[in-house]
Amino acid sequence: MDYVYALDGKFKEKSELGNKGANLVVMTELGLPVPPGFVITISAFKKWQETGLLPEEAINEALANLEKKMGRKLGAGLEVSVRSSAPVSMPGMMDTILNIGDIDQVKSAIKRIFGSWNTPRAIEYRRLNKISASLGTSAIVQAMVYGNRDERSGTGVLFSRNPSTGEKHLYGEYLVKAQGEDIVSGSRTPEPISRLKSVMPEIYSQLEAIADKLELHFCDMQDMEFTIESGKLYMLQTRSGKRTGNAAIKIAVDMVNHGFITQEEAIQRVTVEDIKQILHKQIKDVGNYKPFVKGLNAAPGAASGRAIFDTLGVIPESKKGPVILVRTETSPDDIQGIALAAGVLTQKGGLTSHAAVVTRAMGKPCICGAEGIEIDLLAKIFSINGQVIVKEGDEITIDGTTGNVYLGALPLVEGGFTPEVKELLNIANGFKRLGVRANADTPDMIARALEFGAEGIGLCRTERMFNAPERLAAIREFIMAENPENRSAAIKNLGELQVTDFTTLFKELRGSPIIIRLLDLPLHEFLPSENETTDPQMKQRIASLKEINPMLGHRGVRLALTTPDIYIMQIEAIKKAMTLVPANVSIMIPQVITSQEAINVKNLAKGINVKLGVMMETVRACMRAGQLAMEVDFFSFGTNDLTQAVYSFSREDAEKEFLPTYLRMGVLLDNPFEVLDIKGVGRLMETAIFWARRAKKDIEIGVCGEQAGEPRSIHYLHGIGVDYISCSPFRIPIAKLVAAQAAIQERIFMAEYDTSSFPINS
Ligand code: PEP
Ligand code: MG
Repeated sequence: MDYVYALDGKFKEKSELGNKGANLVVMTELGLPVPPGFVITISAFKKWQETGLLPEEAINEALANLEKKMGRKLGAGLEVSVRSSAPVSMPGMMDTILNIGDIDQVKSAIKRIFGSWNTPRAIEYRRLNKISASLGTSAIVQAMVYGNRDERSGTGVLFSRNPSTGEKHLYGEYLVKAQGEDIVSGSRTPEPISRLKSVMPEIYSQLEAIADKLELHFCDMQDMEFTIESGKLYMLQTRSGKRTGNAAIKIAVDMVNHGFITQEEAIQRVTVEDIKQILHKQIKDVGNYKPFVKGLNAAPGAASGRAIFDTLGVIPESKKGPVILVRTETSPDDIQGIALAAGVLTQKGGLTSHAAVVTRAMGKPCICGAEGIEIDLLAKIFSINGQVIVKEGDEITIDGTTGNVYLGALPLVEGGFTPEVKELLNIANGFKRLGVRANADTPDMIARALEFGAEGIGLCRTERMFNAPERLAAIREFIMAENPENRSAAIKNLGELQVTDFTTLFKELRGSPIIIRLLDLPLHEFLPSENETTDPQMKQRIASLKEINPMLGHRGVRLALTTPDIYIMQIEAIKKAMTLVPANVSIMIPQVITSQEAINVKNLAKGINVKLGVMMETVRACMRAGQLAMEVDFFSFGTNDLTQAVYSFSREDAEKEFLPTYLRMGVLLDNPFEVLDIKGVGRLMETAIFWARRAKKDIEIGVCGEQAGEPRSIHYLHGIGVDYISCSPFRIPIAKLVAAQAAIQERIFMAEYDTSSFPINS
């Protein structure tokens, strides 16, 4: 077992040297200028944790070698630094000790670095980022180089690309006559790296070449630290750079186009969080507002909230609504405040300061170095030229894409797509097996869904169309009608409105398929509450329609069997709309329990040429799936109602009552209305799919409950052979990425798993 490992040794894995240590070895191997040194390995750390002992002899020997290499002795012209190096980078979380001049100091510095693995902030960072405490850290001892020696010295942080956009150019900043800590802490606002081109042109072109070499070697964007000592460049570290979602996608797509990585790798590399970020909010009609200050655009997206001046304040205030954390500069101790805030604004610090790096990784907006404001942390105010502008609790809006700060909570709009995102989603389309459709019932939602790449509408809930005031009046007329004439007049009126509804939707769809679900609400939901009306007739009707458990009551297909007029009207309206605007329509029946219900509705729909399917959202429908499959063209699992039924939890009430307690106590690990419950609901679905496909091999099977847009659930739904999922328009890009990842992972798994020896295949 090697406890101490020289940086000019052969490559050794990160699990022993940590990320920084392993990459220093690579840089040394590539011939880059790295200050000599050695690593006290993670095995040594673990041994130290058990016994409190360091590999003293090996350290003495390594220090003696270092002195020989440098031609100087410790304390007599040679000083060293000791840094931490964990297998997963934890920026700024552990200690760094500089300018050490004797052997005893080196050893106690190593112990201090090892000890910093378990500081509260490191533990909190690991918890937030789901990093295992068992990984451990190594310690790197390296000869010091001095960026603060003279005017030809300096230090800088450099990315091989722009980490906000992914564009290929050097990005970063440097400070003359300074050490690394001056940049990272944000205590001095540094110069952009582009200035170095005119100040030290040779160093600049050396950095360009190094950035290219490292990016090519690691096939990924690099985040590097360097020091210039009296005109000579040293590389202190390189690692994969944290980036925005947009940058992650652009880099992945660029690297595929340059042949550095495969399409599969690109899909595996981009995360759900990256995609979430690209849907960043922006300020609506931003030209109408005047910012009161501008800082550096450190992490993109807009956010508004109450200004809060410390992490301790953010913790309770963020529970009441969005807050913006306002600090002179942030430090690793602010990690919890940053995690809870909607965005961060700092007075000092550059694009690679702590606040910038952490928010970018978390995907939340950040503005750094807003030097025009003066923050008084004690009085909890900030002012410009002595005039108080914002007090704690005042609403502000930050736009991390431009660096502008505004007073008040400005209206925000959701984000959009870049060409690279479209390209990535096209790549995803080539791998995924699951179809991805949207749940949408208005022209706006349909437009958004198609723009986000939905392959049609998997669920159009028609009851939502009746909520607009003029519709509500029309359906109330129908419910209240006293005789057949009034009733048919009311239904005719409704039918005309529905024809307009459907033609508008069909125009927006331009031929994309749509599954229209017939009415699924209990009639009483369209009436006012009893105390909202003085009309005695209305009061009486409300009382007669009242149900104790309306969600288990007179709704969906049950309504069609007792009062067929509405379904007939809807079917006729769809038929008429299809003659006006050609459309690819399927009709779906909600709340079915038996094939006889489907047969009844089929009879109502005889005159229309569409596919007919049922929602699988009752337990009985799942248990009778074989029989049901014979009567219809498709199934769509309504996992919202199905979860309600399987759990006997009211989907309306559970989340505000006992479910949070269950989750806190660990009785349930996930909210089953969010993440599909594989062991209960999933098992029922698998049974239903098995019997359905046995009865009708090619029956189309979809899922349209909320869980269909949740990544873990999508992996599972891919695995059980569902044909398509249908989710809210905003989740379409995520669903596509995850569906492609599921398909690729399945392929990798099958390739590794040699099935040729299975008798079943012979
Ligand atoms: C469902 O139950 O999962 C479903 C999609 O229908 P709704 O949410 O409209 O009841
Ligand atoms: Mg339902």
